[in-house]
Amino acid sequence: MARYCDANCKLCRREGEKLFLKGTRCMSDKCALERRQYAPGQHGQSFRRKVSAYGLQLREKQKVRRTYGILEKQFRNYFKKADAKSGITGENLVQALECRLDNIVYRLGFAGSRKQARQIVRHRHIRVDGRIVDIPSYSVRPSQTVGITDRSRKLDLIHSALKAGRGDELGWLRVNKAALEGELLEIPKRADIPLTANEQLIVELYSK
Ligand code: SF4
Repeated sequence: MARYCDANCKLCRREGEKLFLKGTRCMSDKCALERRQYAPGQHGQSFRRKVSAYGLQLREKQKVRRTYGILEKQFRNYFKKADAKSGITGENLVQALECRLDNIVYRLGFAGSRKQARQIVRHRHIRVDGRIVDIPSYSVRPSQTVGITDRSRKLDLIHSALKAGRGDELGWLRVNKAALEGELLEIPKRADIPLTANEQLIVELYSK
């Protein structure tokens, strides 16, 4: 299975904003974007190109795709499904991304980053409604509970993430830190999703 293996911080520097891909490091002064606020590469500091409408759409798509750690093909499939559903395509897309199991694990605070959440899921530390699920793209449905398996309850990785307080206070998620589990209460509305992106630009890009 293909996956992105290059430096995560380059992605933030390319997009010019923090995508929070490295857990607690993103909150510290070690953050690469704090120290080098220019695009990566040889011409990162000097080369300034006028950005076209297409360029803006492309950057927005890349930003969202990289935030959730998804490769192009899978991201396009999310768009196709969002477009086929009734309602606002951009909102459908963001909702589908938010309901991914790795994202829910991250939002619950069991992991410092989505990448770490993905690894926790792949290593079979997560159960959904009592059953182990090791597919990061699994779509969590409202009223399903997501928790840590019994054998993994002492994992340092999970406890240090919880201690760092990464868990977002979101009205559509119920978190029980003592029981190491949480519940998706409802599909979040766009306004309740903490993602700074203009998904309409992505819709325009893929609708060409
Ligand atoms: Fe992005 Fe985090 Fe790296 Fe900062 S430390 S550049 S927010 S991945």
